[in-house]
Amino acid sequence: MAQVPIAEGLFTWPSEAPQLIGDRCEACGMIAFPKQGSCPRCASTDVREHRLARRGRLWAWTTQSFAPPSPPWSGPTGDAFVPFGVGYVELPGEVKVEARLTEADPERLAHGMEMELVVVPFRTDEQGNEVVTFAFRPVE
Ligand SMILES: [Zn+2]
Repeated sequence: MAQVPIAEGLFTWPSEAPQLIGDRCEACGMIAFPKQGSCPRCASTDVREHRLARRGRLWAWTTQSFAPPSPPWSGPTGDAFVPFGVGYVELPGEVKVEARLTEADPERLAHGMEMELVVVPFRTDEQGNEVVTFAFRPVE
């Protein structure tokens, strides 16, 4: 089964050590994710691709316990839906990224815990490809 990313340009893939792809403003230094082509702070269009740190600290989180409305949700629904964690991970000196978490149990998550970027299966598409997305997992 082939693996395809959920969207082009979100993260480096295939990769042993995947990184999120954002951009960095050459005018003011603001880092944004995902890439926007212009700076959300100063509106400069002088931005360069910036690969984000793979590790950060958990800042806030919750559990997605039911399938979100579709669209935009394109993942499993009904009995096939499995609850997952959602949170913000603060990448040091860069940006807070909203992301899926590999841990769905809020009791096993803690403010400030170290998290690492991973790429995980999301769904199977109409062609039988495994669609993968990014997530953060607690560093053991
Ligand atoms: Zn800027």
